[in-house]
Parts: sequence; C-alpha cells; structure tokens
Amino acid sequence: MQEKNFDWLNGFSIDFSLVSGLSEDAVSTKRYLSDMKGIFSDEAAFEDSLVRDNTLVYEFYEMGAPENDGDIAFGTSIVYPGKIGNEFFMTKGHFHNILETAEVYFTLAGEGGLLLENPRGLTAFHQLSPGKALYVPPCYAHRTVNTGKNTLVTFFAFRGDAGHDYGTIEKKGFHKLVVEENGGSCVIIDNPKWKKIT
Ligand code: MN
Repeated sequence: MQEKNFDWLNGFSIDFSLVSGLSEDAVSTKRYLSDMKGIFSDEAAFEDSLVRDNTLVYEFYEMGAPENDGDIAFGTSIVYPGKIGNEFFMTKGHFHNILETAEVYFTLAGEGGLLLENPRGLTAFHQLSPGKALYVPPCYAHRTVNTGKNTLVTFFAFRGDAGHDYGTIEKKGFHKLVVEENGGSCVIIDNPKWKKIT
C-alpha cells in the first residue's frame, strides 16, 4: 500500500478505524512473534508457538513525525489477543531516549492495560478500556498489554523528538509480568527473571 504524503509543516488529517485501529492512509510497523524473542517470560512456550505460527502480535503507526521538540508524534497501536504460556500478548515496551518526556494514550477498542516502571523501580499497571485516557508521566517505561479476547486499540501522542529506547527493556525486562491466573483472571506478578544491570 502507498503511504499518503503527510504534510507535517502545513497540517494534515488521517483516518484510523475506531474498531480495528487500522488506517488506509499509512503503512504500519508490524511486530511478529519472531520479532519478540526474549520478551516473553516462558521461553519454551514462545518457541512452541513460533514453530506453529509466526503470528502478528502488534502493529503501530509512525508516519514519519519530524524529530523536533515542537512536533507531536501520534498514531494508533494495535495489540492482538493471545498469550505465550500464561503471559498476555503485549508490546515490547520502551523508555524514551529523552527520558523526561511523557505520552498520552486513549483507548478506542478492547480491554487491557499499560504497564509502567521508572528507573528507580516504581511500577504501576493501569487498566485500559474504551473511552479511557491514560497519562504516562515522564521517565516511565511503558508497555501495552491485551488482557481481553478482542483487539486492543489505543491512540497515542508524544513529543516528536522523544525517541525510543527498546534496549534497556530487552536486556532487563519489566519488573512485573501480566499473566492469566487459573480461572481466567488477570494478575500482576513479580518477574522472576528481572535483571539488575547498572
Ligand atoms: Mn512511548
């Protein structure tokens, strides 16, 4: 698909589906299971799933926002339902390169949450459901988790020059995991593999 030419200098509009989160005007960035090696806690379950189906876990839009502090990057993030072992499908999660930059998420469809943590080890999990907006404060790593049976769609906006630091989370993981308990309820547990790396 051809991406629309977005006029970041003079303004533009773009459509996102309120149901699927997808846009016909832009090309999404896709993260398949094979892109998520080392992200899920249960490595055996991950390898089992990957052999069966290299499924699409999530996708999001970047649209080439200028990396200026006066611009705002925005788009939708779409996390599909599923689990690896008992851990729900989720995004890789990241800090911003400019750590002291915040982000806003607004839920369009689905059920889930945002897992947050800062470099001092403070953590939080905030529920997402349609109509709910969430403020991710400066300095917090953030990961979207789909705890429901349908696609979780959020709309996000953050400072254009914030940048993404995926490496810290890839090396250390989050302090907490979002898993399904026996019986189907969602619980937050300590990540036994969290690595203290200075
Ligand atoms: Mn972010």
